Amino acid sequence: MRRIAVVGAGQAGLQLALGLLAAGGYEVTVVAARTPGELRAGPVLSTQAMWGAALRLERAAGLDRWAGEAPQVWSVDAALVPEPGFRALEFTMTLDEPAQSVDQRLKLSSWLELVEERGGRVEYRELDRAGLRELARANELTVVAAGRGELSGVFERDAARSRFDAPQRRLTALYAHGVGAPDLAAGPRARMHAVPGVGELYLQPALTLSGPCDILLWEAFPGSPFDCFDDRPEPAEQLRRMRELMGAYLPWEAALWADAEPTDAGASLYGAVTPVVRRPVAELADGVAVLGIGDALVVNDPITGQGANGAARAADAYLRAIVGRGGEPFTAAWMADTFEDFWRQHARHGVEFTAAMLTMPEHLQAVFAAAATHEPVARRLAATYVEPSEFADWLATPELAAAYLASLS
Ligand SMILES: Cc1cc2nc3c(=O)[nH]c(=O)nc-3n(C[C@H](O)[C@H](O)[C@H](O)COP(=O)(O)OP(=O)(O)OC[C@H]3O[C@@H](n4cnc5c(N)ncnc54)[C@H](O)[C@@H]3O)c2cc1C
Repeated sequence: MRRIAVVGAGQAGLQLALGLLAAGGYEVTVVAARTPGELRAGPVLSTQAMWGAALRLERAAGLDRWAGEAPQVWSVDAALVPEPGFRALEFTMTLDEPAQSVDQRLKLSSWLELVEERGGRVEYRELDRAGLRELARANELTVVAAGRGELSGVFERDAARSRFDAPQRRLTALYAHGVGAPDLAAGPRARMHAVPGVGELYLQPALTLSGPCDILLWEAFPGSPFDCFDDRPEPAEQLRRMRELMGAYLPWEAALWADAEPTDAGASLYGAVTPVVRRPVAELADGVAVLGIGDALVVNDPITGQGANGAARAADAYLRAIVGRGGEPFTAAWMADTFEDFWRQHARHGVEFTAAMLTMPEHLQAVFAAAATHEPVARRLAATYVEPSEFADWLATPELAAAYLASLS
């Protein structure tokens, strides 16, 4: 049995640990800061929309336990709101397979219990750097999946791959019951509204601890009218302010939220993320190396929903690399190659797509405008959220986008 430790019980760490346990031949230890009970009783952690490509991996591993209950989202309605109360551009991005969002409090607490059911060991403690060194000495491979936690600071920032040094949006999210549907016959749909210079608003049907719900995610330009949640109000006050903003900017959404109520006392989330890419290997004292994964290495603003999806894709890529290693040692060079392969094939595209959506260069604006009149453009945009490597083929430069748009007429 090869001994492998995973620090952090999020999407990346748990999916990897569960994959190793299913593969067999590994003694797996997971270090988790919170117990399943603490997770379920705590605040929401993300809006965690998972696209089809990542969900396929979860399903293949027997980890999607909620497909029957969670709303299946087949389309995303997009609108440009150039001035309060007015929609200038509208189109629907249809997905080839449904997306789904399962409250991470529900999903991760269940996966954590599954680790133990599958014969893994879980240690409930918050690991510090000294503890990480000890753990790394006792295991053949230690993977740090500590998300945006302090421990991920063991990995150096990769300046060449990190475009931003401050958050590009201020974030707030709320889970609610009782939200109306824009079109009952059309089934669950996600919606996104972009208000230039002010922010973006995302709405998505999801599954939480108390059943189906809707999640509202505000991406506010710092200092804009959407950036008004710094004092982190309780869910009821947060909802009141959100209704007021929707009433002013998006009255058609405000009408749907007239009877909404927060799902629970932990229904609110506040924050801001600085997008960053870190070097994948940290050499601790005594030449012991550890490998990072997920948000520990690559943090994206949630505007494109690449974080949890990227973590799922990384867990799958690392699992294949670990199993493919057979009985060979997990050297620092192997760790670096493992991440580099993943970076080239997947992560860098998510980072570039997300940076483009945060900054909206002119050629991307032209593509969104074309999507309002050309269904194939909208469909290709949808496919790029699901598989961000598409970005390199048609959106990465003004020339690529122009050539594609020219090919339509
Ligand atoms: C507002 C918001 C909305 C989002 N929406 C989406 C979305 O719709 N779709 C999407 O794909 N992504 C989304 N994301 C991003 C997504 O939530 C993350 O990218 C993803 O959860 C990262 O997974 P991870 O496993 O790398 O880290 P995490 O999920 O952060 O897990 C890390 C775990 O490590 C634990 N930990 C940390 N330090 C220690 C320590 N020292 N010892 C022990 N344990 C430790 C933490 O408690 C945590 O459980 C969103 C993020 C935000 C902030």
